[in-house]
Amino acid sequence: MSLKSVCVYCGSFSSAKQVYKDAAMAMGTAIGKAGLGMVYGGGNVGLMGLTADSAIKAGAKVIGIQPTFLNAREPEHPGLTELIKVGDMHTRKRLMAEKSDGFIILPGGFGTLDELAEILTWRQLGLHHKPIVAVDINGYWTNLRAQVDYMHDEGFIKDAHRDLLGFVSTVDEVLPKLEAMRIDAQGTAQGGPAPAHDHVTEPDHLDRT
Ligand code: AMP
Repeated sequence: MSLKSVCVYCGSFSSAKQVYKDAAMAMGTAIGKAGLGMVYGGGNVGLMGLTADSAIKAGAKVIGIQPTFLNAREPEHPGLTELIKVGDMHTRKRLMAEKSDGFIILPGGFGTLDELAEILTWRQLGLHHKPIVAVDINGYWTNLRAQVDYMHDEGFIKDAHRDLLGFVSTVDEVLPKLEAMRIDAQGTAQGGPAPAHDHVTEPDHLDRT
């Protein structure tokens, strides 16, 4: 099965520089043009709103998943295909993960970092085998990449886990990279060594059926 739906994590503040806003809009357009669905936090704010807006205009079905308490801070995009209201952040993040075949990390703040860390560690634990790609627009994630290398070199990340987070420099590279990583992950998940700890017994809770 190829990619059908992608999850986008990105910033919620409108104060981001134009270069990031342009990338968010281009990402939404690329998702729509590729015939993919988009899953995200549901808000009509910051890069989140811009990505959703462009994806909807390009024909994508866009699902927003939002805890009720967040609606005042992040009002939903009015053009969503579906808005799923949930009770808490954990349910939001689990549903976003379950409903997606891959994850795109655009520039963002602490919320985006939190989402990235969680989906990456779930992958490391073998809870899912879906690809994760950070889009290094304007060098935004260059320091993160260096930090991942440093953590690996200092012995805190296994060799097998170092590349679980893919990096690309442009929006055009995102979907091909996700697809390539997805195929690699399928091979690893089915035949090769487990991508997570040696003794993992957990099923793929977050993989879609
Ligand atoms: P930010 O990158 O801080 O602008 O946040 C981007 C999105 O991440 C927003 O929709 C936040 O609601 C969401 N988010 C997810 N997890 C968290 C968290 N632990 N703290 C704050 N925001 C979060």
